[in-house]
Amino acid sequence: MENTIKKLFSSTFTYDIPKDQVTRKSIVDINGGEIEDISENAMGFSEYWQKLQQDIVPRTVEVTNPKFIGHMTSSLPSFFGEISKLITSLNQNVVKTETSHILTFIERKCLEYIHRCVYGDTEYPLAARCGNHMLGTITSNGSLSNTMAMWIARNRALDSEHFSCAEDGMSACLLEKKYRKAVIICSSLAHYSVKKIASLIGIGTNNIISIDVDSNGRMPTDILKKQILQCKKNNICIISIWGIAGTTELGSIDPIDEMAEIAQQHNVHFHVDAAWGGVLALTKYKMLLRGVEKADTVTICGHKQFYLPQGISMMLAKKTQYMNFIETQAKYQARSNSFDLGRWTLEGSRPANSLFLHAALNCIGPKGYESLLQHSFSLCDYFVDKIESTPEFELILPPQMNIVTYRYIPTTLRNKEFYNDAQQQFINSINSSLQKKQWEQGSSFISKTTVNLPQYNFGDTVILRAAIINPLTTTSHLKSILAEQRKIALSLENEILQPSTPQAYSPKALI
Ligand SMILES: *Cc1c(COP(=O)(O)O)cnc(C)c1O
Repeated sequence: MENTIKKLFSSTFTYDIPKDQVTRKSIVDINGGEIEDISENAMGFSEYWQKLQQDIVPRTVEVTNPKFIGHMTSSLPSFFGEISKLITSLNQNVVKTETSHILTFIERKCLEYIHRCVYGDTEYPLAARCGNHMLGTITSNGSLSNTMAMWIARNRALDSEHFSCAEDGMSACLLEKKYRKAVIICSSLAHYSVKKIASLIGIGTNNIISIDVDSNGRMPTDILKKQILQCKKNNICIISIWGIAGTTELGSIDPIDEMAEIAQQHNVHFHVDAAWGGVLALTKYKMLLRGVEKADTVTICGHKQFYLPQGISMMLAKKTQYMNFIETQAKYQARSNSFDLGRWTLEGSRPANSLFLHAALNCIGPKGYESLLQHSFSLCDYFVDKIESTPEFELILPPQMNIVTYRYIPTTLRNKEFYNDAQQQFINSINSSLQKKQWEQGSSFISKTTVNLPQYNFGDTVILRAAIINPLTTTSHLKSILAEQRKIALSLENEILQPSTPQAYSPKALI
């Protein structure tokens, strides 16, 4: 990685979390009990600040630590300290131009830039100069971006000359088109926000058609095609086909290009959730997202691989007309013909967080992101090599991006072709305990999840998951994480093998 980029991340923020607090209590033990009650009488700010430093900050999580590679949250470039202060002190509200002025156009500029990276654009020169054209919107997070996308998709699928979802409601539209119900089709690895959305926009979570992924964690398109035909035959409205460019759990990438073609053939909205992988569109790695330019809507998170602070994501619409499906106006703001951003967003008042994106695009830039990705990919290769060359660990699947998944295999179960249910459960439980213990020890962190993959007969499989994006992480950090896991796992195995400790699993039955 270029040194100039690395330097952006290496000067630390003001808050160096004290290391003497690393042994964590479980969340259940804290549960607010250690937090002082809020008093009726206000205290001086310096007193409050001192309490924060003493009692609260040391108990936060060191997500910026290079050995905390369990989640999609990492170190930030230190210039965000200044930008963040600026955003707060200016206190602009980008809901309308009267309270944000030029920052409205900063937001539009950033969206245009990202839109051009994703769609290689034809639309944006027009959109840039006219308040009535929007290419998408900034949101607070990926869940909201997905929500906005499905809001558009629903109205696109159901609005007609006579009825609209916005004015007449969804049932009037369904009735008119003689649909029995509406569904979203996605893979079993879709982000859980799809459930919130189905609940919110009148689809219902039972009407999410969730297709089991293939052994690479991708959408099997033959089954997708069958499901579409099935829906058509049964008068079921498909609101959207939902592809994923970087699944949260495995980092796998759906066959976006093929899915886009299928969606186009059937005239169905195609959404790509690129919350994790969207940044690739700015770099030479864009080929991994092949077909993303055919998506009707795209979600990209700023707070993940763009290395922005929490609170900013994007939703892009392929065509500016799509945004009209959700436009809402008011008399005192968000007026027609205005540039007011509130016309196009689910959220109302919003901070000018797009300055974070603007700063990053200017100070990191596409070349910077490319070198960050390069660093991350090469660390992943290293980690995968280590896992594959160690008998204790089993790689779940070769990473398609920069999330590495694996699990620990207990001594007695190594080199087996097949595990029965009890053995699977034993492996699951040892991996769960291992992950918990590592978190509690507090010097490094890997997350865990449970997946259902064909290679494990779709049984619940607990896996360890590393999202390796921290620019300060090195190969020796990765090595020491595995060493720590080996040590913890071995002590867990020994505990279980002690006949005096009552355990749920009898090791004898497993050998
Ligand atoms: C992180 C993520 C999201 C959005 O998550 P938020 O927590 O709402 O920002 C959506 N989809 C995928 C695939 C993700 O990884």
